[in-house]
Order: sequence, then C-alpha cells, then structure tokens
Amino acid sequence: MTFKALLASRIERTVSVDLVEMSEDQLMAGDVSIDVDYSTVNYKDGLAMAGRPGVIQTWPLIPGIDLAGTVTASDHAGFAPGDRVVLNGWGLSQTHHGGYAQKARVNGDWLIKLPTSISTHDAMAIGTAGYTAMLSILALEHNGVTPDRGAVLVTGANGGVGSVAVMILAGLGYRVIASTGRPEEADYLTGLGAAEIIDRNSLSEAGPPIAAPRWIGAVDSVGSHTLANVLAQTDYRGAVAACGLAQGVDMPGSVFPFILRNVTLAGIDSVNAPTSARLQAWDRLARDLDLAKLATSVQRGGLAGAVQVGQDILQGKVRGRTVVDVNG
Ligand code: NDP
Repeated sequence: MTFKALLASRIERTVSVDLVEMSEDQLMAGDVSIDVDYSTVNYKDGLAMAGRPGVIQTWPLIPGIDLAGTVTASDHAGFAPGDRVVLNGWGLSQTHHGGYAQKARVNGDWLIKLPTSISTHDAMAIGTAGYTAMLSILALEHNGVTPDRGAVLVTGANGGVGSVAVMILAGLGYRVIASTGRPEEADYLTGLGAAEIIDRNSLSEAGPPIAAPRWIGAVDSVGSHTLANVLAQTDYRGAVAACGLAQGVDMPGSVFPFILRNVTLAGIDSVNAPTSARLQAWDRLARDLDLAKLATSVQRGGLAGAVQVGQDILQGKVRGRTVVDVNG
C-alpha cells in the first residue's frame, strides 16, 4: 500500500519539495499509526520548505509540524484504533516525518486526544499557531492579566498566531488592540473582535526604554524592536508573552519595564511543551475559541499547494490560517 506525501530533499545546498508516493515501511519508528486527515501551514513550515537552517535536521523528510487524524494501530497504552488525535511540534518536520502525508507513524507520547467538540479539520485550522496563541494567553492569565485591568495588544495580528489570539482574547472580554502592517485588513480584524487597530510601524523602530503605558498585556509574535517597544508600553504588573520572531530574533530593549513597572516577560515554546500544558491548551481552545468565527479566517488547499503557501507566509502575504487536506 502506498500513500501520498510531500518530501523535502536536499542536494548540496538546493532544497526541493516534491509530491511523491511512499510506502508504510518508509515511515519512521513509532508506536502509533495514524490515517492523517489534515495538516496546516505555519510560519515554521514555510521556513522548513524553503530549506532555511534550524528546522529540518535530517534529509529527506516529510515536512509539516502539525497533523490531525485517526489512529489505525497502536502499541501505546494511551491510544486505540479509532481515537481522533492531534500532534503539534515535538520532532515533526525536524527529525521525524511530519504531517504532509496521508499516513504517519509517531511516538504516542506526542499525541493529544481531541476534545469531542473539535473536528480534525478544526484542529488544523487551529494548528500550532492557534495552540501557541492559547499557550500565550494562558501565560498572561498565569501572570495576573484580566480583562478588567486594561487592554491587551496582539502583534502580527493578521498572521496565524495573531488572528487566533485576537479571537480568543476578544471572546474572553478583553479590549484587544491589534498591531498590523496591513491596515487594509482592518475590517477582518474588527470582525475577529479587535477594538482598535494600530500600525505596526509605530512599534517596529528603536524607541525609548520606557514610555507611557498603553496595555496591561500583550501576545507578541514579532520580536526585535517591536517586543522592546511593547514591553516599554506595558502597564504596572502587566505581562507580555513572547512567542515569535517575524521581525527578528534580537531584543534590543532595557530592563526598565521589569524593574520600574514589575512587568513579566513570559517565554512561549510550543514544540516541547509538556503534555499537561498541551491538554490544558486544547481544553481551553475547545471552551474559549469560537470555531465558527475561526472558519472565517481559514483557507484550504491540498498537499501540492502547501509549498506555495509556505513561500507566501514567509513574505507576510497570508492572512489567518491555511488547512492542508492531505487527501484532497
Ligand atoms: P504568520 O506568518 O502567519 O504571521 C506573522 C505575522 O507577523 C504576519 O502576518 C505579519 O502580520 C507580521 N509580520 C511579518 N513580518 C513582519 C515584520 N518584518 N515586522 C513586523 N511584523 C511582521 O506566522 P505565524 O502566526 O504562524 O507565526 C508567528 C511567529 O510566531 C513566527 O515568528 C513563528 O516562528 C512564531 N511561532 C512560534 C511558536 C513557538 O512555539 N514559540 C509557535 C508558532 C509560531 P501583519 O501583516 O498583521 O503585520
């Protein structure tokens, strides 16, 4: 039995991603076999398919850091055939074959059973981007940010993490300020629940080490000067969840927000997050994310189209989320 997959190969410095037929004996070791329904395209998938360093570490490899599907065979005590599961991160698309394939064989410790209200399609509409948005919001809550304390900022608001963060935070009753470089998408963002749109250029250049407070919390998927300015404008005992690097990996700020305003900078890693954190995030996604609203931010394509979406996402051209129908 063969199945379809996208396979990323590297010959010297040239990376190509091709739609191929593979057989199950080409899958890597694992104790759970899955019929994959859907995957998705995140920023990191764009990096992987472009062959950027730091994502794919063994070649050739099936990209796709996420997958959702149904268990077909299991030697893992936690899973049985018929279970609907989601996998975000771990070694997928780094050292283990990822989600851009009709079949997967993985370590059962990486899997989460989907809450009954979330379909495999919903799970990939959420994807690592949405699950990271929820991890970021949980970090804000953990650090005492509540809707009555003031507005929250979301940077990279038109992106995957940003769009889902805006939706969830607005649904939880926060006044959401959305920072974007695409003001033409203002209607989309207000439709998701943003109360105010600001131009990302107002945050992207070097700014003062501390400035008048504008928000009590922030989800930042951008990094660099943006993160430094976000921290500088965070109110007393506020918190900022740093999850991304769309502008850059540097953080050219000062300690003033920490020592003068008692601001907390919370780091967010979705890849190696422990199962307990994943279960909490998926449980809260089932409760706090309006799936009908999420559907308005989702586009869908097949395996072959994922490469182009990956290129577009790296150029900041993709709005919201893209689901990959691996059987479509
Ligand atoms: P997207 O490409 O969907 O979104 C990123 C958004 O950032 C863009 O849509 C754009 O929003 C904004 N942006 C892009 N370039 C720049 C720039 N030069 N300066 C300022 N803003 C910019 O990616 P994702 O939402 O999937 O991921 C967002 C970030 O989070 C990425 O850096 C990704 O690597 C990281 N990430 C980290 C995870 C973790 O575990 N920590 C997990 C998932 C993602 P707009 O057009 O509205 O300005």
